[in-house]
Amino acid sequence: MSGPRLRDDLGDLEGYHSPQVDVAVRLNTNESPYPPPPEFFEAWTAAVSGSAAHRYPDRAAISLRSALGGFLGQPTERVFCANGSNEVLQTLLLGYGGPGRTALVFEPSYVLHAHIARITGTGVVTGERQPDFRLDPAAAVRLVEEVEPDVIFLTTPNNPTGMVEPRETVEALLERIAARSKPGLLVIDEAYAEFSPWTAIDVVADGVPLVVVRTYSKVWSMAAFRLGFCIAPAAVVADLEKVVLPYHLSVPTQLAGTVALRFTGEMGARVASIKTERDRVGAALAALDGVEPFPSGANFILFRSTDGQATWEGLLRAGVLVRNFARWPRLDNCLRVTIGRPEENDAFLAAMKEVLAA
Ligand code: PMP
Repeated sequence: MSGPRLRDDLGDLEGYHSPQVDVAVRLNTNESPYPPPPEFFEAWTAAVSGSAAHRYPDRAAISLRSALGGFLGQPTERVFCANGSNEVLQTLLLGYGGPGRTALVFEPSYVLHAHIARITGTGVVTGERQPDFRLDPAAAVRLVEEVEPDVIFLTTPNNPTGMVEPRETVEALLERIAARSKPGLLVIDEAYAEFSPWTAIDVVADGVPLVVVRTYSKVWSMAAFRLGFCIAPAAVVADLEKVVLPYHLSVPTQLAGTVALRFTGEMGARVASIKTERDRVGAALAALDGVEPFPSGANFILFRSTDGQATWEGLLRAGVLVRNFARWPRLDNCLRVTIGRPEENDAFLAAMKEVLAA
């Protein structure tokens, strides 16, 4: 008997791969190097123990959404939560993409934008960045005029480049969408915004075609929980609620997100120390011969090495795993290192020196 066949339009789809290797120093997936504080786990487990596990969760996740909205200065109706920002992105594309519709991405960027677009049957148009990975705002606006995409993705700080897009670029794109007759949506993926100098959250307003996507996976040290959210016009949130599966967000996840907000002081301290370490690692990389680090507003740094593949292999032999983009289109010889604890960053820098000397 022949097995089932994947949809024809997905025949050559590659899964999402970020290989995990068991090494001493793992700096390849942009997680926080610090777990949440023990008091978080105490408060969360107490809340889970007291929950009505025999009942379905609050479908609208009101407590979590109102707590998050309060934290970000936004009304509950402008907050939508899901299992990781990936599920937020998927729900956006299920609602606003699909057959006959188009998403515009600017490469190189977070690969899941184009990947989820394909899975949801959305056409993908790729805009290019400049060789230094900056976006040319005029060229981006021209492409939006030409393609008239239904959904535009912009990641700031961008993954994997670390580049922060200026507010003017966001405003120029929004202006362009507002000026045309066909409706469209600008989705700003801010998975790393807490490490960067600005956020587009305060540009979100009812009637403005803008969604800002965020995650608990990075600064909140909660990648294992799978919780992400977006801030969007209330009408967009209402659409997303129609599209997403009922009861998609479990009680433990909703409680984790609410309880975490009691630890904003710890979160701020983690962000501050990671930014200090990022600047230290960036300066140390810049001082190495044959290494070109790119400026970063995130918790990772992209750098180009004369022979990226050999550098990646050498680091791995030294027990340090970084993300290998050396053979990716547009990213030749580039590697991306997540900022870890100071001792992990020291181990990475020592390994870099060793590998380059060899
Ligand atoms: N957006 C960007 C730009 C990311 O880098 C990531 C994680 N690598 C995500 C979204 C997904 O994060 P999560 O699903 O864990 O919230």
